[in-house]
Amino acid sequence: MSRFGWDIDGVLYPWHEYAYQQAEPYIDGMSFDEFWNPKDGWVVQNEGTMLMKNIVGNPLNYYKQDIATHIVDTLHEIQEKTGSDFCYVTGRPRIAQLDTIKLLARAKVPNWDMLYFTGNGESKGPLVKELGCVYYVEDRPKHVPEVNKHAIVFLMDQIYNRDMEFDNTIRIYDLSEILEHL
Ligand SMILES: [Mg+2]
Repeated sequence: MSRFGWDIDGVLYPWHEYAYQQAEPYIDGMSFDEFWNPKDGWVVQNEGTMLMKNIVGNPLNYYKQDIATHIVDTLHEIQEKTGSDFCYVTGRPRIAQLDTIKLLARAKVPNWDMLYFTGNGESKGPLVKELGCVYYVEDRPKHVPEVNKHAIVFLMDQIYNRDMEFDNTIRIYDLSEILEHL
């Protein structure tokens, strides 16, 4: 049986939209793409600032709404068609851990209790290896060179990973594309 590992934010849950909304009063009309641009966006320029730390640490942003129904349906479809089991690996901060368990349980995603925290954005490579994931779905470029040593990565296309290429990695624009590549 193969195992699928899933990142949460930027793959299953629109955390980046909430971070952008939260920063809107301070960014003078900047667009979402400008905000998250990996070269010169507001986020890279403000890494480590008090405002950014507060946005990342705001627990509300981690459970404002449910995981979208079409995403939950796609997860179940992938599981049914592949017979794989699922686990979820996230770097969400400690303060959001209980709410993350509730988020997955409430959405009834497959194997929602297989939830693992790296702790505050730490490397995912060791956990993905330990869990024996054959496939891993991620959006954050920082994690890919670690994770793709152990698993085939499906990279969810986002402004902050666009034009980046990685070994052992398939770029997708929608989770439903995963089935076409298996
Ligand atoms: Mg993510």
